[in-house]
Amino acid sequence: MWHRIECSFQPDIDAEPHRATDRLLLSRQGFLRAALAFAAAPLLKAIPACFATPVGASLAVDEIGPGVFVHQGRYEVQSPENRGDMANAGFIVGTDAVAVIDTLGSTQVGRDLRDAIRTVTSKPIRYVINTHMHPDHVFGNAAFKEDSPAFVANHKLARGLGSRAERYLAINKQMLGPEAFEGIEIVFPTVPVDGTLSLDLGGRTLLLETQRTAHTDNDLTVTDSATNTLFLGDLLFSVHVPTLDGSIKGWLALIDDLKQRKVARVVPGHGPRAMQLPGALEPEQRYLATIAADVRKLIKEGKTIEDAAKTAGFEERDAWKLFDQYRVRNVTAAFAELEWE
Ligand SMILES: [Zn+2]
Repeated sequence: MWHRIECSFQPDIDAEPHRATDRLLLSRQGFLRAALAFAAAPLLKAIPACFATPVGASLAVDEIGPGVFVHQGRYEVQSPENRGDMANAGFIVGTDAVAVIDTLGSTQVGRDLRDAIRTVTSKPIRYVINTHMHPDHVFGNAAFKEDSPAFVANHKLARGLGSRAERYLAINKQMLGPEAFEGIEIVFPTVPVDGTLSLDLGGRTLLLETQRTAHTDNDLTVTDSATNTLFLGDLLFSVHVPTLDGSIKGWLALIDDLKQRKVARVVPGHGPRAMQLPGALEPEQRYLATIAADVRKLIKEGKTIEDAAKTAGFEERDAWKLFDQYRVRNVTAAFAELEWE
């Protein structure tokens, strides 16, 4: 039996269409916090309920392989309602320690992820790995500071995130609203990776690999040795339209390489909890190839970036969620890169 306290910022998990059987609901800790806040409610009238109670502790996670857990984010942009819960995040449990892979888009949903981990294991959270710098993957980092983990990421992440920190904070404050934004801070990596790094969790190791510039210039993948599960971060989008913030040529080249990998399953940064290669990468490859072909044609015809923003990429419109929110950005990024070929 679990109780939910009415709260305008509480995501309605029951409204989500895709639920597996073994999801985990409200953690004990989250429940106690919620119950305590409920008891104190008359004293906290001036404070919105959600502000006083980090109630949204009902973060669904699924075990996609032994000891490998994934939370699936929503196909949305950040909002007060989703509190930055719009990307996938995971955690892997070894015999000695836990590693978290991405922390979602706010300290509050990061705390919910931490609570979900604590319903599964009390082992120390030794590593927090970020697959790249985007806020929907790193803005939950502060929720794990109390665990004193190593924050592990591509060595280029700090530079990228540092240069955009002010803008990311301002945009997210505006889109999340003041309540969901509360507690967000930039947490930089303490362990930068350049090439590969193995992390021993006891009984299993994680292989971290920095990748060429593709989705961003600081993408990093994680392979779990025990289950042969590959976390691709935003190198793989499914259902949610891909977003280009690195190199379209680099990304297409990397997809060719990734399709050759022999793994049991991959976890996308946005999409279902687990997918199979090589098919998982094919819609994204088609989308990026379409954008590249459209833009190259326009460049050849002497058209401008404004022309491209108006006309390119529409063939893919029906294949993706959030297509319109990102088309212009993707097309102009591709144009800026490809006009120098
Ligand atoms: Zn991203």
